[in-house]
Amino acid sequence: MPTSGPEIEQLIQLLARLPGLGPRSARRAVLHLIKKKEQLMLPLSAALDRAVAAVTVCEVCGNVDTVSPCHICADPRRAESGMLIVVEDVADLWALERAGVGAVRYHVLGGVLSPLDGVGPDDLTIDALLRRAPEFTEIVLAVNATVEGQTTAHFITDRLAPSGIRITRLAHGVPVGGELDYLDEGTLSQALRARTAL
Ligand SMILES: [Zn+2]
Repeated sequence: MPTSGPEIEQLIQLLARLPGLGPRSARRAVLHLIKKKEQLMLPLSAALDRAVAAVTVCEVCGNVDTVSPCHICADPRRAESGMLIVVEDVADLWALERAGVGAVRYHVLGGVLSPLDGVGPDDLTIDALLRRAPEFTEIVLAVNATVEGQTTAHFITDRLAPSGIRITRLAHGVPVGGELDYLDEGTLSQALRARTAL
């Protein structure tokens, strides 16, 4: 039996679907929101409305922003950058930005090759990556150190081999099976500095 009205129960159920939150944390969060209705719940509701209306996917790199091209792609300091960092997910791009890796540009693949899950090259933005590649002098494959991540890196490396563009990957500090988004910023920037040729 629900202990609250449907409006509150639905809010709890929706929040419970967020990463890192379960039903218990969601219930606590909702109770906190209700207690802080003016200071927190109303501004959060308004911010969600504005974000829903504004979010878009960058047509160049696949980042999520409120404009397309995104703020990173439109940044004139990065236009000169010869380095393109290829990541699986927007969360990895944001993690690298938090780590302050410099005036680089990015490409979000939207996942990794995974035949078992039915994810093939056409399900990722690999074709778009191959089209962008000639603009750069170095492509860093910053995919996760998982089997699928490494399979994807090899696939892309094979496709880019004829171009002669320097292809590197992250090195020290990235644990095997680790996900970039969970690494601390020092580890991540070190891994980028110590990248190796594929
Ligand atoms: Zn972009």
